[in-house]
Amino acid sequence: MSLIVQKYGGTSVGSVERIKAVAAKVVARHQAGDKIVVAVSAMSGETNRLIDLAKAIHEQPNLREMDVLVSTGEQVTIALLCMALEAEGVSARSYTGGQVRILTDNAHGKARIKEIDGHRIHADLNAGRVVVVAGFQGIDDDGNITTLGRGGSDTTAVALAAALKADECQIYTDVDGVYTTDPRVVAKARRLDKITFEEMLEMASQGSKILQIRSVEFAGKYNVPLRVMSSFQDGPGTLISLEDNDQMEEPIVSGIAFNRDEAKLTIRGIPDQPGVAYKVLGAISEANIEIDVIVQNVAKDDSATITFTVHRNDLPKASELLNQIAEDLGALEVSSDDRIVKVSIVGVGMRSHAGVAAKMFQALAAEGINIQLITTSEIKITVVIEERYLELAVRSLHSAFGLEE
Ligand code: ASP
Ligand code: MG
Repeated sequence: MSLIVQKYGGTSVGSVERIKAVAAKVVARHQAGDKIVVAVSAMSGETNRLIDLAKAIHEQPNLREMDVLVSTGEQVTIALLCMALEAEGVSARSYTGGQVRILTDNAHGKARIKEIDGHRIHADLNAGRVVVVAGFQGIDDDGNITTLGRGGSDTTAVALAAALKADECQIYTDVDGVYTTDPRVVAKARRLDKITFEEMLEMASQGSKILQIRSVEFAGKYNVPLRVMSSFQDGPGTLISLEDNDQMEEPIVSGIAFNRDEAKLTIRGIPDQPGVAYKVLGAISEANIEIDVIVQNVAKDDSATITFTVHRNDLPKASELLNQIAEDLGALEVSSDDRIVKVSIVGVGMRSHAGVAAKMFQALAAEGINIQLITTSEIKITVVIEERYLELAVRSLHSAFGLEE
């Protein structure tokens, strides 16, 4: 007998029919003898609808009241799902975050889970009941309702799995797993049977938005095996877990990730002196602008160039700041470019293989794609290239590293 936490997202519970279909899935697993805890999202579109209502009343609604409002979406689905389970003859009980006592800090709209009390849940499971918990919400020390940020039900599910020491946390969604790359870009992209937490984090932070990043971090920290699977078709999904050291032949590259949301800024002709990088990049991050790739070069004449990327939405603000900094430092030139994309190859197998970067550059060279910036980490190599080459680059890397079916 195992203890499984299942999470169903908004589309999976988007209508009464779908809620009934979820109930049927839960019942099958329950009848097989497993203990089941289900975390659910609000019905698809509901959280946005609630946010729009608030915005129609006040431009910047009170954050505490916002959480009281948006947490209702999940309260609807837990009740409906329990009714559907009871209709199938399975006894079930719903709990809001506060009723479980999912204790969080008091940062409304982006609260972090501090502790989960598993007593009531364990008691219900031992009595043969299915337990259904509202995702995305908790309660602070003073009893205020809090929410965990958009997509937060994933984190609720993982946190429940960690607290209850579940055998697996299954995230049911509208895709049947994690793919080697976006199938909309590469038709031959393949579903991965498994991937490590680290790889998933790299894939996710690059824009594979299957899971909330925080939930993957959480799962890695507490070593909760996570499985991403489809609520609309049967299949094994993708298992996200720790690196399997016994596996003799690991693929060198597990996936190709990309990100279209960044823009590049360059400041040229600045002094090659201690403190200059800090002056340039410190001012940008003090404005709460997140900096991603950073490259610095020093030319023969001892002048330095710094290039970095930021989110495209932050480009106007970052340009303005960079122009001010350029004036202060007597820089030669500031330029920016938002027609860039970031493409990365990701794989824990890279740690033990040489020549991976060369192979990547060779594949891009063969297509005549110019590389503007390069950065690497232990399990990832990233290049910044011109936006129009995105699909070509991803496709050629996908085949160069043998990722197709
Ligand atoms: N309902 C919330 C949202 O739409 C939480 C979730 O679905 O995970 O962001
Ligand atoms: Mg979601």
